[in-house]
Amino acid sequence: MAEKKKTEAQLLKEKLCYSPKNAGERFSDSEWEKADLFCEGYKKFLDMAKTEREAVEIAISMARENGFKAFDPTVKYKAGDRVFLNNRGKALILCTVGTEPIEKGVKIVASHIDSPRLDLKPRPLYEEAQLALFKTHYYGGIKKYQWTAIPLALHGVVVRADGEKVSVIIGEDEGDPVFTVSDLLPHLAAEQMQRKATDLIKGEALNVLVGGRMFKDDKESERVKLAVLQLLNEKYGIIEADFLSAELTMVPAFKAADVGLDRSFIGAYGHDDRVCAYTSLMAALKNKKPSTTVVTILSDKEETGSEGNSGLQSKYLQYFIEDLAAPHGIAGRTVLSNSSCLSADVNAAYDPTYSEVYERNNSAYVNYGVVVTKYTGARGKSSTNDASAEFMGKVRSMLDDAGVQWQTGELGKVDAGGGGTVAMYVAAYNVDVVDIGVPVLSMHAPFEVVAKNDVYQTYLAFDAYNK
Ligand code: MN
Ligand code: MN
Repeated sequence: MAEKKKTEAQLLKEKLCYSPKNAGERFSDSEWEKADLFCEGYKKFLDMAKTEREAVEIAISMARENGFKAFDPTVKYKAGDRVFLNNRGKALILCTVGTEPIEKGVKIVASHIDSPRLDLKPRPLYEEAQLALFKTHYYGGIKKYQWTAIPLALHGVVVRADGEKVSVIIGEDEGDPVFTVSDLLPHLAAEQMQRKATDLIKGEALNVLVGGRMFKDDKESERVKLAVLQLLNEKYGIIEADFLSAELTMVPAFKAADVGLDRSFIGAYGHDDRVCAYTSLMAALKNKKPSTTVVTILSDKEETGSEGNSGLQSKYLQYFIEDLAAPHGIAGRTVLSNSSCLSADVNAAYDPTYSEVYERNNSAYVNYGVVVTKYTGARGKSSTNDASAEFMGKVRSMLDDAGVQWQTGELGKVDAGGGGTVAMYVAAYNVDVVDIGVPVLSMHAPFEVVAKNDVYQTYLAFDAYNK
């Protein structure tokens, strides 16, 4: 049978109209398999890296295996050299020196490795009604009610009075106990259920259950708390005052899992933004001989505004570039002014259940590939980088030429809310920046969802950019 002749309108539409395609209409089985395989590694990374410190540790060990060495600011690095800068165990810069001279600028990919969670307060442990509990202070933008009645794991470090730093992880290994924040039973929640969702669970109600057995028969008070301290002392050699010099946090205890009968999604804690951290890390490890110097940043503190010395509002990126350029007799600002950056962070995926907050034409969709976001921010584009047409043009050609499946997306309807990324902080160094990353369902929930295809396309995007 002869092929049906296309009408004039059909042909014109193909020529003039823009219509992104679902992965299902683009890819062969072998391409799906590549995405699935890539995501097996990603799931392992998620399970091992639930905090920024753990992510830095794993990333450094992967980098060392791929020839990266600790950065030495006195060395004049040459093409093909690979270095990493560990910023206090909480943020990391990886760099592969390119064949082009450094004054031509570098290509930066900047993601973040912190995620919303429940941090323990400096004096967390208390006893009430013969229960031992931890007081917490939430970190990042959470819907507090989502963090009750789920299994939690304790992660972090404690610096003891003797200066020794102890790493803590409880709740991840098979057979480990977990922790939980209790919620009110519906039978007695008449008043609670009338509250606004922001007050449904109040900040001071995020108390974590950690023990219920009393220290052996004695007259002393608070014997449940004492028994918990005894257990911690036996296991980690710590005393109550050591909590004062600690960073301990409660994160969801569950592991990354395939979601859906077709296993097309991954559900996990902390896709935002370890999905961009992992994909950019894998791309950074792969490219051993880039033309332009490749700088990959895994940053901290994005979820609280990028402040603090491990966040991208600190000058550690600037100092690194200055130190890299100085032995060549080049000013850091010359390098930065000629540089570009992909601000690698997630965006909201269109959710049909909550369609009212999305604008159909300008939303990102799962299985439509990596999402390029020209601007984030709130209201009248407040607090945003807003990538230039020229840089968008470059990124667009780069992705199309490499055959990467990509889409564009805004964070929901105008005035529906808003949010930011590290883009504007990198742009402040006079760098061309655009946001790019993976669309996520249930962002900032304890269990976030991404499509495997989009994870893989994001990796391909970073790989194409680094070349
Ligand atoms: Mn993010
Ligand atoms: Mn976030």
